[in-house]
Amino acid sequence: MLLVCAVALIVGGIGAVRLHDAYTRQASALLRSTAIVTSQLLAPDLERQDKLALQEKVRALGRQMGYRITVIGPDSEGTILADSEADPAHMVGHRYRPEVITAYTMGEGWDIRVSDTVQTPLLYYARRIGAGDRPVYLRLAIHLDDLNASLRSFYISIAASAICCMMLAAIVSYYVARRQVLPIVEVTQFADAVARGHLDQRILRSGQGELATLAQSLNSMADSFSQLLSNAEKGQADLRAVLASMSEGVVATDASRRILLVNESATRLLQLPAEPAGKQVWEVIRNEQIIKAVDEVAASGQQRQFQYDPAPNQHFEATICPVTYGAATQRSPGLIIVVHDITQAMRYQDLRKEFVANVSHELRTPLTVIKGYIETLRDGAISDPRKRDEYLLTIERHANQLTNLVSDLLELSRLDSQSALPHRTSVDLVAICRRAAELLQPAIGAKGHTLTLQLPATTSPIVGNADYLERAIVNLVDNAVKYTPAGGKICIAVRMEPPHAVIEVSDSGIGIPKEDLPRIFERFYRVDRSRSREMGGTGLGLSIVKHVVQVHGGSIEIASEVNAGSRFRILLPLAEQI
Ligand code: ADP
Repeated sequence: MLLVCAVALIVGGIGAVRLHDAYTRQASALLRSTAIVTSQLLAPDLERQDKLALQEKVRALGRQMGYRITVIGPDSEGTILADSEADPAHMVGHRYRPEVITAYTMGEGWDIRVSDTVQTPLLYYARRIGAGDRPVYLRLAIHLDDLNASLRSFYISIAASAICCMMLAAIVSYYVARRQVLPIVEVTQFADAVARGHLDQRILRSGQGELATLAQSLNSMADSFSQLLSNAEKGQADLRAVLASMSEGVVATDASRRILLVNESATRLLQLPAEPAGKQVWEVIRNEQIIKAVDEVAASGQQRQFQYDPAPNQHFEATICPVTYGAATQRSPGLIIVVHDITQAMRYQDLRKEFVANVSHELRTPLTVIKGYIETLRDGAISDPRKRDEYLLTIERHANQLTNLVSDLLELSRLDSQSALPHRTSVDLVAICRRAAELLQPAIGAKGHTLTLQLPATTSPIVGNADYLERAIVNLVDNAVKYTPAGGKICIAVRMEPPHAVIEVSDSGIGIPKEDLPRIFERFYRVDRSRSREMGGTGLGLSIVKHVVQVHGGSIEIASEVNAGSRFRILLPLAEQI
């Protein structure tokens, strides 16, 4: 646009000057030839020195030609002899006008100026007429207003053309810019956006030619980037999900022991503060053993595993190992700390040890007795019929005890190994209670107990294993018989208390001390070990009951008072509640 504007101004300026010159030259030539003709026309009057006739002719000629004609006298003042547009009497002498001075020496002279007489710009031409000391000067002047008016319109045309050219240039520039520059601007904006991480942006208008190829390349580059990024994000999300679902606490650090990531379990187990990433291990992990081990592993590059107790009755296992992060090209070393809560596992281990010790102990006692009596019999007692019968009875009692123990152990291990309840059917609790009562009737009768059955006429069904439930109820009633002195009262009741079916076994027996109640369902736990053994008990009965109730999704409650009696309540969910 500026170029077009400059060209228009230069061409316009030069044109205007040239036109002005040409116009002036043409006007001057015309003035001269007119002056020559006029001088000849005025010659007779000048010779006669007839001022009046001269004035009139000058006026007439001036009017016809459109020039101002002035005749200047030969005196030193240059008195005006005639003038076509003014009264010579009121005009001052013109001898010293520039064109007249030049005409005096050169024969003719030119000048352009604003006339004192008519106050408009004029082109003057003066011509000396006649030779000798007293020449007369004929001066012709043309008004330049017309010339200036023509030039002004020319200037206006040039300015209008320049403005049109500029507007045209502006429109053309705009469209050219749109076609050429906008795609580049768009590509630049796209590159900026991608640099700021907006990988979803794409170049829509891509221009033509090489620019289009560039735009396509950039778009596919952005596609690959976002694909890579989403793969990386997916990988990260997967890793986070895996870490979050782990029960082990995981802390990953770089080689300088700065934390890179931790999972929820680590935050919980190591009691890490919020946002531990970026901090040093020693800043956030308060356990000295771990910090020391981390330093050792970092120095030696050897994995370390150890156990520690962060609190009483809490056991953790920590594994610290060196790792190498990243792909083959960008490998960086670091450390992984894995913390595992092994409290439960340790407890199970203790329980197992305790269980094995209990079992051995329980087995050893009857076996020792049996072995002792057999030896006594062999040493001669067998020949004494009274002693022999008594010893054999004792051996039989302890053999029964062993049988009970083994069958209880088998029962327990069977219950332990089954995660789901086998043979689930609709179970009739009333029938089960009746069968249990019948089974134990001889023992009840032998001890003179009174058995009461409180069984409803109809019951809502429950789903379970009838054999297991019968075993549980038999165990409870058997205990009631065993731990109730002769002539006591035993009651078996079934009640519907939605959402549960309740089986209640109560007795008026010796009861259980308050402090023993929480442990009564533990394996081999007995309030009075020797009394239990005397009764043929194994200490496993209530464990089996509790197990059975649990696999049925129920619960067991106990209320007992020493020397007043005990009441066991089994609550089983009704079938429609399952
Ligand atoms: P046991 O084979 O010794 O009876 P259990 O597991 O059945 O083993 O019972 C554990 C202990 O709970 C018994 O040794 C006894 O001390 C106590 N106990 C169980 N039932 C009763 C009850 N009805 N009355 C009093 N004490 C009971």
